[in-house]
Amino acid sequence: MFVLGILAEIIAAFFILYAFRKNCAFSLDNLSLAAERKEELLGAMEDRIQYAQEDNIKLGLLVDSEIALYEVAKELSQSLEESDVLNAFKEKVSTIFGITDCSFIEKPSLEKKDNGYGMIKVSRGGRGLLYFMARDFDRINKAKMTILLAQLELFLKRSQLYHEIQELSITDGLTGVYVRRYFLERLKEELSRAKVSGSAISYILLDVDKFKNINDTYGHIVGDAVLKGIAGILSASLRSIDMCARFGGEEFCLMLPETTKEQAFAVSQRIRLKVQEARIKAFNENLTCTISIGLASYPDDAGQINALIDKADKALYRAKAQGRNRVCMAGVK
Ligand code: GH3
Ligand code: MG
Ligand code: MG
Repeated sequence: MFVLGILAEIIAAFFILYAFRKNCAFSLDNLSLAAERKEELLGAMEDRIQYAQEDNIKLGLLVDSEIALYEVAKELSQSLEESDVLNAFKEKVSTIFGITDCSFIEKPSLEKKDNGYGMIKVSRGGRGLLYFMARDFDRINKAKMTILLAQLELFLKRSQLYHEIQELSITDGLTGVYVRRYFLERLKEELSRAKVSGSAISYILLDVDKFKNINDTYGHIVGDAVLKGIAGILSASLRSIDMCARFGGEEFCLMLPETTKEQAFAVSQRIRLKVQEARIKAFNENLTCTISIGLASYPDDAGQINALIDKADKALYRAKAQGRNRVCMAGVK
């Protein structure tokens, strides 16, 4: 369509020039000018019309490419997911340049390169490089592609920053496990899922024993390192469907989907022993500590999230009262 438009402009320009020459020749004929002077005047006017036509065509091209660039930016901004951004880019670039096959790959393919594919490096928003490979590479207008790639890199960076911020807002800065707010949202979801599927789910609350002593003896910074070490032990002890969060201070909570109360008790004992046996490296100190655990499960102890949390909390209180470094289950004395 666009090419036809330009052709129409050029043909129109010829007609205008032809008509202009005819009309001007006629009106100049009526003036008593020397033939040479008439030619000179006609030539100058033709030049001016030609320039004006060329300017019009250039303006048309400029407007068209600005619209195309704007369209690409609009498409790339639709999603914050990297894969969507890349797909939108591929689609738009294929249409604009008439490319029949293009893709993004993490490692450059020499085989494809040998088969006539062209390749461009793309910065992946601080996460290394991607390679844009395309067949019919010579169809790509370099100037336009440079602008499009700059846009793509900007949107990839935006996607990466978005995910980084999201991660930061759901993870605890000191220990690297999830924050309580996010954990509770997920626990609520998982509890609903368990009710629908008829499976069990367990909630575990644990607290470091006599942690104040560690702070008082070695200082707060060493205390921080111990918390980090314990979080590491907890995370390493869980399955990928489980979840660990910092409940607050020196307390952590765990969610074990599809886990009965008895199974959760066994997991809790294993974790308790792991912590007890660990030598947690905190600067120059290799420290030991113990934890107390309270646990409650659906469907045995509660059907609502608040009741589940409350029952685990009470069980933890009992574990502390009974001498610490132990696991207590809700509803069991
Ligand atoms: P218990 O066995 O009864 O739990 O005794 P405890 O000393 O662990 O309990 P207490 O509640 O008396 O003390 C908890 C301490 O944890 C007090 C607080 O300063 C410390 N704490 C809470 N958050 C942090 C933290 O982020 N870093 C450090 N280093 N200490 C923390
Ligand atoms: Mg506590
Ligand atoms: Mg404590």
